[in-house]
Amino acid sequence: MYNIAAVSFGELFLKGKNRGSFEQRLTDQIKYALKDFNGVTVYKDSGKVYVETKNHEDMDQIIERVRKIFGISNISPSVKSGKDVDAIIDKTLELFAYLLEKKDIKTFKVKTNRTDKNFPIKSMDFNALVGGKILEKFRSVKVDVHNPDVEIYIDIKKSCYISTDRIKSLGGLPVGSNGRALLLLSGGIDSPVAGYMIAKRGVEIDALYFHTYPFTSERANEKVLKLKEKLEEYCGKMKLHSVNMLEVHKAIREFCREEETTILARRFMMRIAEKIAVENKMDMLITGESLGQVASQTMKSMVVIEEAITMPVLKPLVGLDKTEIIKIAKEIGTYETSILPYDDCCSVFAPAHPLINPRLENIKRSESKLNIPDLIEKVLATREIM
Ligand code: ATP
Ligand code: MG
Repeated sequence: MYNIAAVSFGELFLKGKNRGSFEQRLTDQIKYALKDFNGVTVYKDSGKVYVETKNHEDMDQIIERVRKIFGISNISPSVKSGKDVDAIIDKTLELFAYLLEKKDIKTFKVKTNRTDKNFPIKSMDFNALVGGKILEKFRSVKVDVHNPDVEIYIDIKKSCYISTDRIKSLGGLPVGSNGRALLLLSGGIDSPVAGYMIAKRGVEIDALYFHTYPFTSERANEKVLKLKEKLEEYCGKMKLHSVNMLEVHKAIREFCREEETTILARRFMMRIAEKIAVENKMDMLITGESLGQVASQTMKSMVVIEEAITMPVLKPLVGLDKTEIIKIAKEIGTYETSILPYDDCCSVFAPAHPLINPRLENIKRSESKLNIPDLIEKVLATREIM
């Protein structure tokens, strides 16, 4: 029955002077999310975006896709009708008959919104007119303006749209409305969730993955690629950079103490990420760290790791328990991929007893044995866009 979805934006960001560009951005994102559907057109009509399809059986799937785009507050499955009075009444009756078949409706209400003031009947009068027609045709139902089983919403703009339900969306701000950041994306549970949370606040993200090929497998790469694709359902198109950390690990192993490996390697990761972020005009990094979860995520470790760079690091999961993170991972659909067994980081180089209380001066002394710029250059030379 439904051949068009009316998409309403969140209110917050709509007030400013950027409204037009946000609307355009959201329209583009909706088009991108629906690129593999045939017969779909996306257009604006006074304050809402409409997704019209020639194949109404695609509607549920279309709504499921669009619902994931940040910055949308709700979506109404609708039918589009001609704009003359009789056409609207006919379509409304047709929709009402369809609804009656699907659910038990005893009471209803009609609500008209007349944006097009050229439409000849005022909203209140039109409510009464259409309501009367419904009562005439469907003898079992009554009007209830306070608590109806169904509200028929007739929105008269350039075209006329008739709907009954609002499907709540994920909220957030449109991606791209709030700057750009680089997500350090591993194959684990946490970092995809971290990326999701920051993208939800309107940040456009690219991802960076560190591998240690041949010690980490091709399958680990594929897993990260799959996570990126899952994230794209929410964040829009993302670039996934990957680099090989092998040279760094070899140097650390040769010149430094084993228990310092994790901290040293993570300082390198931060430096490399910062470089790639700057190059791509991104202002912050994002990681999936949560305070106290593992040795490198103690307060002291975080301080020492981040001392290597000046760029701020967003850690949206910092105060969450693992069970809370897992819950979100399941909701957004990354969990099943994240728990696949292929490891993203190389166990060959992982220390048996990592430091939990690293001291910056010790770490710096160890680093003085390494040629940092040279190692960074070697890692950056392995860069690929996956
Ligand atoms: P995750 O579940 O995200 O893998 P984790 O619990 O394994 O996190 P760590 O290994 O300490 O924790 O990593 C902390 C953060 O550092 C990750 O959330 C991620 O943002 C980043 N990170 C770790 N390993 C990699 C990697 N191989 N590639 C890219 N980023 C990484
Ligand atoms: Mg991990």
